[in-house]
Amino acid sequence: MDAVRATSLYRFFHTAEDEIFALRGVELAVAKGEFVAVTGPSGSGKSTLLACIAGLDDPDGGSVDIAGQRITRRPERVKARIRATSMGIVLQSGNLFTHLNVAENIRLQRHLAGLATNMEIDNLLGSVELTHRAHALPPTLSGGEAARAALAVALAANPPILICDEPTGEIDAATEGSILATLRMQQERGVAVIVATHSAALAGRADRVLRLSDGQFE
Ligand code: ADP
Ligand code: MG
Repeated sequence: MDAVRATSLYRFFHTAEDEIFALRGVELAVAKGEFVAVTGPSGSGKSTLLACIAGLDDPDGGSVDIAGQRITRRPERVKARIRATSMGIVLQSGNLFTHLNVAENIRLQRHLAGLATNMEIDNLLGSVELTHRAHALPPTLSGGEAARAALAVALAANPPILICDEPTGEIDAATEGSILATLRMQQERGVAVIVATHSAALAGRADRVLRLSDGQFE
């Protein structure tokens, strides 16, 4: 069974003057332990695709199955449960609560997934080299630290699927290397990794690179 299967996804947006075809018949199947990079120019539909996969947005046509369970057009409580137990998500807009410190953000994520909240937090912080920033509030983190904290929160509940929207957007090469190493380690543990990225280094390490252009895979 595929970890993620997107079938015939269509998503349209309407503005005052335009109709925007953000996704036009996208098909995607990602297996357990597979690392897929989604590339393409700004506006090509990468974030829309990942939001539909995560059930944060519903496509206008088509559907997404997560480990054989449909997430598209389900009640919000069902989507939230599938997300909390099956997916780690790093969004472009960030995934940290600004009034909770880094460790508390991780603890909350584990709580939402029904896991013990005091276990594994030190390991997780160590794996992204943030042990010394455990009690820092997100607004006080550097760009690189924030990116690694976002990844730690996404991994907090040991999700079988990891979805990252430009996780190395505006960071230095060292942080990019560290994030790439973390993604590869997850992949080796059998996690299905889907990453939207502009980074050639990141895409170069993926099993498959899919390029979106105007809402379609080339
Ligand atoms: P990417 O992540 O590849 O930059 P997006 O998925 O963010 O692309 O956007 C794809 C297209 O859909 C763009 O033209 C964008 O302006 C449009 N779009 C995305 N979200 C919305 C929205 N909520 N309302 C209107 N247009 C949107
Ligand atoms: Mg985007």
